[in-house]
Amino acid sequence: MNEQLQMLVALQDLDLMIREAKDPERANREEELGFPLDGVVKLERTRERLAKQLDERLLQMYERMSRRYARVVVPVEGSVCLGCFMGLPTAASHRRTSGTTVDNCENCGRILYRL
Ligand SMILES: [Zn+2]
Repeated sequence: MNEQLQMLVALQDLDLMIREAKDPERANREEELGFPLDGVVKLERTRERLAKQLDERLLQMYERMSRRYARVVVPVEGSVCLGCFMGLPTAASHRRTSGTTVDNCENCGRILYRL
């Protein structure tokens, strides 16, 4: 997995954590368990720092798709995209983003990574 993709997966993890932390029901529950209130701020700062290191076009692609999907970057199992569970043709489409090549699922468009 290339470095950009690895960072993008980390960024997505942070986004999911931020979303969970901001979920009111969950937030109440975690507050009871002693989840620090500034936790979200720390997550957001880390996300910001990570976003700065990412290829701008890759980040834009991610941001655009994250409005549609909870998970934008998904693993591939064999030749099946684990975002939409559709089989992929032998070679997934390659899209060039200034030096960074990422695979997109031809069916749902999610960014793919191989485990
Ligand atoms: Zn897909």
